[in-house]
Amino acid sequence: MNLIEVTKRFADKEACLDYLEKMRWPNGICCLKCGITGKDEKGRECISKFTTNETTRKRFSKKKNKTVEVTVPSRSLYQCKECGYQFAATTGTVFHDSHTYLTPKKPRKGRPYVKKDKRDVVLGMIERGGKLRLVPIADGKMEAIEPVIEKHVSTDATLQTDESAVYAIIGKRRFPGRHRTINHAQSYGIGDLHTNTIENAFSLLKRGVYGTFHKVSIKHLGRYCNEFSYRFNRRHSQRQMFDETMKGLLNGQPLPFKTLTASAETTASDSASENS
Ligand SMILES: [Zn+2]
Repeated sequence: MNLIEVTKRFADKEACLDYLEKMRWPNGICCLKCGITGKDEKGRECISKFTTNETTRKRFSKKKNKTVEVTVPSRSLYQCKECGYQFAATTGTVFHDSHTYLTPKKPRKGRPYVKKDKRDVVLGMIERGGKLRLVPIADGKMEAIEPVIEKHVSTDATLQTDESAVYAIIGKRRFPGRHRTINHAQSYGIGDLHTNTIENAFSLLKRGVYGTFHKVSIKHLGRYCNEFSYRFNRRHSQRQMFDETMKGLLNGQPLPFKTLTASAETTASDSASENS
């Protein structure tokens, strides 16, 4: 789906909500509290739809030290006839209350650039004509690389790498007689003897980091790698990917900003999940 198609398809708020509703509840709206769905014994819908009018609400402003009136925008809501619970298509999802301010609250002070003494390493594996997997590793040493290869590469595969000494040992140990290397000092490809498949994926990853993300935090590198592999592996089915991603966002657990910015130890475990 390109930008023009997106602007046509999601021209207004109603179209967006309609799409979210269909993606979240493909079999009909379901109450988020009691789980009721469909029609009752009298043939009436269990969940009713309604739209609230735009109103104003009084709120005490600490900054101005007085009560101010704030606008409450019109909202599309659902109400469960069984338990009375009111909810929206975005309730409990990442789209709930999702808005951002483009002007910063406080001007950001310059932070000195700290040069890292350690470089972030990503191990990339790709099957010829198959799927890509990117895994961040502690360093480029054997101890870090071997378990990742063991986990992600089939034992009966033929391993194709560059001439790094680490791969020579791993190749001998795990892929006896099925390890091919290419010496990049001599040539980048002799027939199908090359590592250009993974170099291609790496170059796209680098473009993504520099051009789209600009900067990635090491703590979330696993998430970036997963997202990248996910997109790379589905690059020939863009439309399905859009629907699939929206479904995932509507049904998955939101990641609150507090958890996102928490210390590395607490988030390391959940970023390890691989959905690529
Ligand atoms: Zn209910």
